[in-house]
Amino acid sequence: MNDLRNIIRDVPDFPKKGIVFKDITTLLADAKSFQRMVDLLAHRYVGEKIDKVVGVEARGFIIGAALAYKLGAGVVLVRKPGKLPSETFSKTYQLEYGTDTLEIHTDAIRKGEKVVIADDVLATGGTMAAVVDMVTALGGEIVECCFMAELEFLAGRKKLPEGKVFSLLSF
Ligand code: AMP
Repeated sequence: MNDLRNIIRDVPDFPKKGIVFKDITTLLADAKSFQRMVDLLAHRYVGEKIDKVVGVEARGFIIGAALAYKLGAGVVLVRKPGKLPSETFSKTYQLEYGTDTLEIHTDAIRKGEKVVIADDVLATGGTMAAVVDMVTALGGEIVECCFMAELEFLAGRKKLPEGKVFSLLSF
């Protein structure tokens, strides 16, 4: 796993001073690492009937789509406001300073469907907690929230359903 960990690039002071940004584009651009990352995530759900994989804008789209393809599941997009064309359900959540809003199509998930939610990095957990609320409100059954990497010191998983969080790498 160290090869995957080492290929993620740290970018200090991005997007603002004091934040060390985990830049996963270096992993995505490496064919073997990308394939391995997707295979390792997909392996967790083999034998389970997953109906939908939800990808969170924007890097979650890449992981979510690849995972859904491997699992034979549909892909659902959670997007920033104003991007989805049909009827949406939205959720506004708290950030360190201010708020943010995400949207999902109301018909993207049906009651009782089994859902995996994918994103690149779990930081404070606010984003994923909002997505969990949205999927649950639409009647989806959350199988797991999965991430390529988790910033453990931020304890984001405390905001998420217990036992339903998986990250490939921890920092
Ligand atoms: P949070 O809601 O704090 O868990 O933030 C999660 C979202 O912000 C994810 O979609 C990540 O892509 C992004 N993010 C937050 N902090 C970082 C970081 N240090 N490095 C890379 N991405 C981050």
